[in-house]
Amino acid sequence: MLPDDPRHGTVNGYTNVKCRCDRCRKAWRAVVNQYKKDRIQRLMHNPKLAEHGKYTTYANWGCRCEPCKTAWKTYYAAKKEAKKNALDIIKQLNNDQQHELGTAPVLPVEHSKLYST
Ligand SMILES: [Zn+2]
Ligand SMILES: [Zn+2]
Repeated sequence: MLPDDPRHGTVNGYTNVKCRCDRCRKAWRAVVNQYKKDRIQRLMHNPKLAEHGKYTTYANWGCRCEPCKTAWKTYYAAKKEAKKNALDIIKQLNNDQQHELGTAPVLPVEHSKLYST
């Protein structure tokens, strides 16, 4: 799309023309935010619109009722735990690798030799 195209800064520019310039992105973001706000408003008027006790309702609908909050906390804790486990596995792998290669790291030594002379 040309820089002076009138479709810049419109949702049409972002969704249909697939332009990702700042102006089009901004237009799109405004719509998404508005959509989210509307959704939260609708849910406030009619809580039956979403299923409660789900973290998705907390995240997507912005619901802060007790069952949704609890679901979110559980989800968040599980996610954090999963991340921690993944890090532990990586650490474990690194340890194993060091055992195989011996404790002295080979590469850095060779490197310093290369550059010292
Ligand atoms: Zn654009
Ligand atoms: Zn809820």
